Amino acid sequence: MTAPTTLPGLPPGGTDPCVHCGFCLPSCASYLALGSEMDSPRGRIHALKAIEAGELTLDATVAGHFDSCLGCLACVSACPSGVRYDQLIEATRPRLNAPELRSPAQQLWRRLLFGLLPYPARLRALLRPLRSYAGTPLQALVRGMGLTKVLGPQLAAMEQLLPPLSPDSFSDRLPQVIPAVGERRYRVGLLLGCVQRVFDPAVNAATAQVLAANGIEVVVPTDQGCCGAVTHHQGEEAQTRALAQALIHRFNGVGPLDAVLVSASGCGHSLKAYGRLLADAAPELAAAAAELADKAVDVQEFLARVGLTTAFQAGLKPLTHPDGCPASADRPLTLAYHDACHMLHGQGISAAPRQLLQAIPHVRLREPLEQGVCCGSAGIYNLVQPTEAELLGARKADDLRGTGAQIAVSANIGCSLQLRRHLAGLPVQHPMQVLARSFGAGQAT
Ligand code: SF4
Ligand code: SF4
Repeated sequence: MTAPTTLPGLPPGGTDPCVHCGFCLPSCASYLALGSEMDSPRGRIHALKAIEAGELTLDATVAGHFDSCLGCLACVSACPSGVRYDQLIEATRPRLNAPELRSPAQQLWRRLLFGLLPYPARLRALLRPLRSYAGTPLQALVRGMGLTKVLGPQLAAMEQLLPPLSPDSFSDRLPQVIPAVGERRYRVGLLLGCVQRVFDPAVNAATAQVLAANGIEVVVPTDQGCCGAVTHHQGEEAQTRALAQALIHRFNGVGPLDAVLVSASGCGHSLKAYGRLLADAAPELAAAAAELADKAVDVQEFLARVGLTTAFQAGLKPLTHPDGCPASADRPLTLAYHDACHMLHGQGISAAPRQLLQAIPHVRLREPLEQGVCCGSAGIYNLVQPTEAELLGARKADDLRGTGAQIAVSANIGCSLQLRRHLAGLPVQHPMQVLARSFGAGQAT
């Protein structure tokens, strides 16, 4: 079969504003990892122009240079000419899924990931036998002896990301409604996330706790599935639409909501795109998708917007240092906030999480040098491009360690797993966990 030479769906004139200045290159994670022009935004835009002009065929080699893109969107933030690379790569991704553009092994691996990650019940069934392995000395021994290498690079990468699994990983324990503490200010829905609820369920618990303590009633629709972010960012259109439709149905059945809150930035980015994603669906579904997209708000963004209550702020107490001493004015606790790409570049949120963290007494925020550069997680990137992801993860870990932080803070599950894998010895927590911990300390005293 011949590969397509054109790219249907590419926004007309979308590549025109690129003047090939290269200002985007220093922020491009794939360029930093691979050092080749073809693996940079400028090189890919050049390739798109050539494909559109009929001068280049989208074959497996060219497709490989698009597959090396993390979709982190740092180039969109960096571009002074307003090139919407986000729209270009979103339109290109579905074309990369043509069977002739990837090897049978790559296609099988992707099918396995897309058949597993968006479905918590399947993921839990697979992980159940690994409970006595994940986070135990046996896992440390296996890793220490390098035995995971026999699994091959992709499976080894997956094993390296595997966190300890708590009983909470295997069932959704949050009640359907978590009442507001004190007077109810808002009623919101909470998206649990497919990977987050399994690999880091404490984030959802902390999020609900912080919201409720701020006078916000939290509704957790039962049997909610994946929002489709995992497949959306890989151009798997049909599966994404099916997942989105099912989720819309779940949230529609819980009564009026002031907002639908998301504590994983990759999910928030996709939820906010639902209106566009389902614009050509049946009118009722298209309207419901647009409504959900309008209500989708990142949890940090929401809390910064509505403000923490006076009572909550009064309950925030200093966090403790690793030696058990509480942070103080003389000895603050240093946090480094890691910007998830789909939060910073995808949703334009950077001040809100920092503002919330600085509400905690005696916290000092430090910024990594390469603040807007991707950590190499990027959805399934670290599972399908493990070599590049490894380089980027190590680079980001060095940068975060260089801040002198005692806690790295990340508001995206994919980044958190990637950072934990590379930041051994340095805790990685979600902003909601850090806030809940500070508030919990306040409650206990
Ligand atoms: S995408 Fe923007 S920053 Fe990058 S080369 Fe083109 S015009 Fe320059
Ligand atoms: S999305 Fe990220 S990895 Fe892809 S070209 Fe832009 S900066 Fe580079």
